[in-house]
Amino acid sequence: MRFKILAGFFDRIEKVSSRLKMTDLLADLFKEADSDEIARVVYMSQGQLAPAYKQVEIGFGEKFVEEAIAKASGYDKGEVQKLFKKKGDLGLVAEELLGKRKQSSLFSAELTMEKVFRNLMKIASSEGKGSQPLKIKLLAELLNSASPLEARYLIRIPLGSLRLGVGDSTMMDAFAKNLLAEGKKEKGLVKEVRAKLKEKKKEKRADEFERKLRLRVREMIEAKYNVHSDLGSLAEKLKKHGLDGLKRISIQPGVPIRPTLAERLPSAKEIVEKLGKCAVESKYDGFRLAVHKDGSKVSIFSRRQENVTEMFPEIVEAARKQISVEDAIFEGEALAFNEETQEYYPFQVTIQRKRKYGIGKMAKEFPLTLFAFDLLYASGKNLMGLPFKERRERLGKVIGEGKTIVLTDAIVTDSAERMDQYFNESVEKGLEGIIAKDLNAKYIAGARKFSWIKLKRSYKGELSDTVDTVIIGFFKGKGKRTQFGLGGLLTAVYDEKSRSFKSLAKIGTGMSEEMLVELHKMLSKIKHSGKPKNVDSVLEPDVWVNPHYVIEVNADEITKSPVHTAGKRGEKPGFALRFPRLVKIRQDKGPEEATTVKEIVSMFKKQRHVKTGE
Ligand code: AMP
Repeated sequence: MRFKILAGFFDRIEKVSSRLKMTDLLADLFKEADSDEIARVVYMSQGQLAPAYKQVEIGFGEKFVEEAIAKASGYDKGEVQKLFKKKGDLGLVAEELLGKRKQSSLFSAELTMEKVFRNLMKIASSEGKGSQPLKIKLLAELLNSASPLEARYLIRIPLGSLRLGVGDSTMMDAFAKNLLAEGKKEKGLVKEVRAKLKEKKKEKRADEFERKLRLRVREMIEAKYNVHSDLGSLAEKLKKHGLDGLKRISIQPGVPIRPTLAERLPSAKEIVEKLGKCAVESKYDGFRLAVHKDGSKVSIFSRRQENVTEMFPEIVEAARKQISVEDAIFEGEALAFNEETQEYYPFQVTIQRKRKYGIGKMAKEFPLTLFAFDLLYASGKNLMGLPFKERRERLGKVIGEGKTIVLTDAIVTDSAERMDQYFNESVEKGLEGIIAKDLNAKYIAGARKFSWIKLKRSYKGELSDTVDTVIIGFFKGKGKRTQFGLGGLLTAVYDEKSRSFKSLAKIGTGMSEEMLVELHKMLSKIKHSGKPKNVDSVLEPDVWVNPHYVIEVNADEITKSPVHTAGKRGEKPGFALRFPRLVKIRQDKGPEEATTVKEIVSMFKKQRHVKTGE
């Protein structure tokens, strides 16, 4: 594929704001790609070169990009910088300067996507001393053959600022659109959808049939994505084999699985009413890790599917020594635990293990214990479909002797009193609370379906659980805070229906001075000129940012709000948090994993329920 085609689509995608139009454009783009190149088209549309878990980072500083632009356009660096100050986007600078370039290139051949991919991959993989001139040369080489529009996107990819706003969900919507025609020919599928429509007495409407069929295909795609988090390889299989390609995707050690999520209920009584006899485990406050063992090769993934193997050498070693089967995928919560005093360290201690440097020293000082709670795969078999009680039993058998990997503490009960007592014991030990688990549930990857229910510590006058919100903008601050550049945050929750972020709270408390500085630094890198397309907010912050960072927030209660858009329907008001306070930055969650509007509505209802004692 010529890069011109990709750049043309990127330009059009950037200009539309409706998600449906964006999906249509992406679907058309994927039609243009052949099966050998579609994976790369998918990665590049998200500003990447490989699936996120492979952690291929192009990371190229602005200074070097400026040099490459100067080199290819014939303008000197001073002029490039001047224009950058004015435009605030090096992609636009490259576009303008290459449009009036002073030198015509000797090599200007038509750019292919393949060539762009190859050079960017080389940029990503060259490291160390002397690599900068090579990187500049590789980028300038691409710019030499680029049209102004191509230059705009060539620059944004290595800078990590492509941000077309195409999330994983929209990608899958586009795949489903392209498979619709094939789906209509699949007898089994058509029958299934018709039967569902009949149940709802809607079978007569053709457009309803089409919509439902597309949703069903989308669901099938997502189910596979949940166990194999690589959209590029998924797209490739679908392109090669159509819907049949889905059968060729299965769980595989080394490729992350999207985690199952916990629902919440306000009391042990309600949990027992919902689940009956269930397993109850302590809720540990550390990092959720998925450990993949494939012979002696061990990979560890975070909750967001980042590869964090290097950070936890003691767990890698323990997986090799303690796990008795050749291959396995299991999950647990890792935290710093003091063997001698039998004390759990607070999260502030554990978080220090999330680092790139000084790993060995910290691993000695604060070794982690992995409290394992689920087994998804073992000895070549996918166990996700087994009931939880069986998976747990097998997990116990697979973990051999040792201190680093141990089973979570658990009981089985159908009594609310016993559950309350266990909850109190857990809290006394310094843990966060409990998680109750449905003994008969399958492992539901990537979703929240009442197979797990959490109950956390609650303090008087506070919500019984914290809320995870996404930062969508910040206020510059008044008085003393002007010196930090940040006085408060505008935050939102995720609306699954519209795939957008809806405002819920302005937060100004719970932040130390260091944190204000840190937040300002982090957020300045993801500034957005104007309101991002996937944000819905009436309030205007001083600076908009791309929805990226998730923060955990505590509050007194959820109230109705005329100014926030979360849960707002027509004239009906939305919801807000009363007295919100920042608890911590949740690096383990991506924006689409934040609390949803639906959860806020349900928390609001439960809160009333509890208050009135109904
Ligand atoms: P939350 O992040 O508050 O929604 O709570 C769910 C998280 O609790 C999971 O993602 C795990 O990281 C963590 N967790 C701690 N202990 C357990 C446990 N025993 N079983 C499952 N998850 C646990």
